[in-house]
Amino acid sequence: MNLHFPSMAEPAGRTLGDEEVAALERVIRTGMLSSVWGTETRALEREIGELYGSRHAIACSSGTAALHLAVVAAAPNPGDEIITTPITDFGTVAPMLAQNAVPVFADVDPSDGNLDPDAVAAAIGPRTRAIMAVHLFGAPARVDELRALADEHGLALIEDCAQAWLAELPGGRLAGTVGEVGTLSLQQWKHITCGDGGLVITDDDRLARAMRLFADKGWDRAVGRSHESLGLNYRMTELQAAVARAQLAKLPGVVASRRRSAGELVKAIRGLDGIRLPRLDGHAWWLFPLVLPNGDAPELASHLQASGIPARAGYLREPLNRAPVWDGPIYGESRFPLDSVSAGEGPTAPCPEAERLVDRTLLVIDWNENYTDEHVRLIAEALAAYRRH
Ligand SMILES: *Cc1c(COP(=O)(O)O)cnc(C)c1O
Repeated sequence: MNLHFPSMAEPAGRTLGDEEVAALERVIRTGMLSSVWGTETRALEREIGELYGSRHAIACSSGTAALHLAVVAAAPNPGDEIITTPITDFGTVAPMLAQNAVPVFADVDPSDGNLDPDAVAAAIGPRTRAIMAVHLFGAPARVDELRALADEHGLALIEDCAQAWLAELPGGRLAGTVGEVGTLSLQQWKHITCGDGGLVITDDDRLARAMRLFADKGWDRAVGRSHESLGLNYRMTELQAAVARAQLAKLPGVVASRRRSAGELVKAIRGLDGIRLPRLDGHAWWLFPLVLPNGDAPELASHLQASGIPARAGYLREPLNRAPVWDGPIYGESRFPLDSVSAGEGPTAPCPEAERLVDRTLLVIDWNENYTDEHVRLIAEALAAYRRH
């Protein structure tokens, strides 16, 4: 039972190798590490644009930076609301506050933790500016329904695909291509990595320009040393881009391998009492989630950990609508843009399904492209043993 489960934090659980080393050396020997003058970052953007069939891809320094660019593209006025899910990385939400927008959490579908379009519809109000969908753990969110809602109400739709590289929507379209903007992350724990890094994709020339300017201090390099809008420095370096390009070549293999082993596990544990399995369709398997409707996810997580299997209950300590951040000031001593939001609304709106998932019913097993049949067998056995005890 002492089989090692490779993790994303070590060579055995990553696809980092000679190609990435060679890419770094190639860049370092050019003497140019900045994407403003180098060629790697622009090449990465072209390759991502081709992969996703998007007119534009813009590289930046992190997935959170990419989400900030996406919020900038949605152009909320201060105090406008953006609806999103309370089960996600805080990087989905922080950029809303940074642009003085109010995050509004809508509840999720208890089968997969993704936004429930009916809950989103109920949360739309006169100040709503955008919907931010997250393809949680790699499972495709119901973005076609969210697209229809957004169109009906004149809202922007953003897709956070940080956990969902090559996740597929019905009909085989890639997650990230339905919203005005899709975002990707290259952080250490994602499918592919350059340590930190992010990308946005869009077909809209105007939004692409706004996001590119924001990522480079509002500076249109073609014009000269002149600043036409507010921006930060969210540039990716050539070193990050060179590693990301080598990683991108390996992405299809990474996702295919995760799909194969996840499919094997689903087959092996189908029919176990009290465990609801994830749907295979289009899933990119960043993690392998299970739902335990009876509420014993914490107990099962302890059982799996005791068998050496990397699993956790809940994913978050608390859903984001209950995060401590909402109790204190946002800037200095000010609660702006939340000062006119009442308790139990906006970022603290109750989301009973999300709360139950995080507190009791959601279990996530770390997943990895280097899992073998032996890893899958051990996980299946541990799950079956728990069900029998
Ligand atoms: C990782 C992640 C982010 C943030 O990406 P970083 O690259 O870590 O800034 C945002 N959203 C989701 C869903 C993520 O998993």
